[in-house]
Amino acid sequence: MSTILVENVHIAPVVGPEIPSGHIHIEGDRIAALGAGPAPAVPDAVRIDGTGCLATPGLVNTHHHLYQWASQGLAQNATLFEWLVELYEIWAAMDAEVVRGAAGAGLGYLALSGCTTSSDHHYVFPKGRGDLFAAEIEAARELGIRFHPARGSMDRGKSQGGLPPDVVVEELDEILAATAEAVDTYHDPSFSSKLRVAVAPCSPFSVSADLMIEAAALARSKGVRLHTHLAETLDEEEHCLAQVGLRPVDYMERLGWLGPDVWFAHAVHLSDTDIDTFAQTGTGSAHCPSSNGRLGAGIARVSEMLRRGAVVGLGVDGSASAELTSLSGEMRQALLFQRARYGPTALTARQALEIATLGGARNLGRQEEIGSLEAGKLADIALWRTGGAFASAVTDPVCALVFGSRQPPLARLLVGGETVVEDDELRTVAQDALGRAGGEAHRRLLRLAGERGSVARREVGR
Ligand SMILES: [Zn+2]
Repeated sequence: MSTILVENVHIAPVVGPEIPSGHIHIEGDRIAALGAGPAPAVPDAVRIDGTGCLATPGLVNTHHHLYQWASQGLAQNATLFEWLVELYEIWAAMDAEVVRGAAGAGLGYLALSGCTTSSDHHYVFPKGRGDLFAAEIEAARELGIRFHPARGSMDRGKSQGGLPPDVVVEELDEILAATAEAVDTYHDPSFSSKLRVAVAPCSPFSVSADLMIEAAALARSKGVRLHTHLAETLDEEEHCLAQVGLRPVDYMERLGWLGPDVWFAHAVHLSDTDIDTFAQTGTGSAHCPSSNGRLGAGIARVSEMLRRGAVVGLGVDGSASAELTSLSGEMRQALLFQRARYGPTALTARQALEIATLGGARNLGRQEEIGSLEAGKLADIALWRTGGAFASAVTDPVCALVFGSRQPPLARLLVGGETVVEDDELRTVAQDALGRAGGEAHRRLLRLAGERGSVARREVGR
């Protein structure tokens, strides 16, 4: 088993006190110990000098749509519903090659922003376009990041009162069969797992009540987690009231979709009662501030949710509604949104770090394994060079990480003790080729969409 010693580093473990100058001792894929002062003498250990660096847990991304890397920059000035109606037509043309290129670039970009674990919510499966779910899993495996893909779905097209065109929805029975197969094929429940599958019908306005109920039963029978979009916009609330006579959280309660095995994306428009319900049931949420800002959806009540004991993690959301958004940058965006709404004590730098790490781990049900730096947990660690020339005037390294609009250099990113990033470069894959493949996926998707008569509106406003 290999040994790594990270030395001379400021450690912000998230759980427990910070260590201004300490060491982290890694054995195999786990943290064996951490503490103040120099590392112990261990024969044949690989030593990493952390002088001028801040060590944090690897960041955890709890909401994404990797395929959307291929549809960035479109419908730039649209509401969520307008944006979706335009993009469904483009997404209907995607194939496995598009997903492979988009997922590789999206995951690589996340790793470069300190992310060691990411979920993904893939819910568009046009017929006869190859195995899209396998394509993104292959991209994550190649990069070496911990991956939690959620098998998404839509079964309520326009003809059934839903928002998406019928061409992008599937039948309920085929969804359940494909979702069960995805779990059986890929889900690894082990402690060190790099691949866990969740069940994730898309949203209240694109999915039938029957699918929500059946999906929850399926997930619980297989011991996997549930995820969907909820309370993202007021349009959604109006849709729910008109269709089922309930606000979104009340609708979820009726469907059996609250509990410690559920996390929702967004949860922007919550009442006081909704927040208490989340806290009491252990229901989590993924805060995606850049996407909410980009689509004008609103500002989630994160500081109130934390105060009342609800689980909150971070998400970058799909790149089509949060172009080139980094996960490290979402800590800052979350902090600024909360302070703009509630004042300067609403969210601290350390609270922002905590939701980006342990909060995310709790959303994914992995708080025993990741999300903090503690002996026995997996060695998922980001080393930020917060003492570099420009940042050296900020003496608090956590402030330097969260407050700045430019991420400090990422000296090292370890996933289970394996180096994925070193000195701001991906080490497991060819970074430039990965980025270019993302651009090729974009051009391929627009070409395929054009062939089926859907033309992307590159409206940019003035
Ligand atoms: Zn989303």
